[in-house]
Amino acid sequence: MSRERIAAVALGSNLGDSEAHLSFAVTQLDGTPGVACEAVTPHELTAPLGGLDQPAYLNAMVRVRTTLSPAAFLEVCHAIERAAGRERPAKWASRTLDLDIVCMSDAMCDRPDLTLPHPGLRDRPFWARQLAVLEAM
Ligand code: ATP
Ligand code: CA
Ligand code: CA
Repeated sequence: MSRERIAAVALGSNLGDSEAHLSFAVTQLDGTPGVACEAVTPHELTAPLGGLDQPAYLNAMVRVRTTLSPAAFLEVCHAIERAAGRERPAKWASRTLDLDIVCMSDAMCDRPDLTLPHPGLRDRPFWARQLAVLEAM
């Protein structure tokens, strides 16, 4: 248990039924004790990062309120990925479901297993766009 924070979580999927995987992520997050989903952006298709030869990604961003610590919330995100059959054969490989914690109130963390805010925020314009959409919701 930690003080309440507001987190933005980026969801991504380019394997299997991506619509279903993104909906699953929101349902699982909201069903987790200490986590409440407040808003979800519309789903949008984006090109794979790094120009990789992969199917396009279905993305969305969700805003949650949580009393979990950043480390405990990361573990929740990983458990949801595992439940959706996520495998990690290689960096940036296609995936059924990816949950990235974009930011978590004023939490700052600089470890490989948890970097907050997520470094991708600097160079993923669709994250900045989705954050702005969430702020208006
Ligand atoms: P990217 O992080 O560049 O989007 P990715 O999502 O494909 O790449 P993963 O394989 O899902 O990378 O995760 C690699 C590691 O990143 C995980 O072990 C996780 O602990 C760590 N990680 C560090 N910071 C965060 C964060 N803010 N949100 C989610 N995972 C993070
Ligand atoms: Ca990611
Ligand atoms: Ca990830």
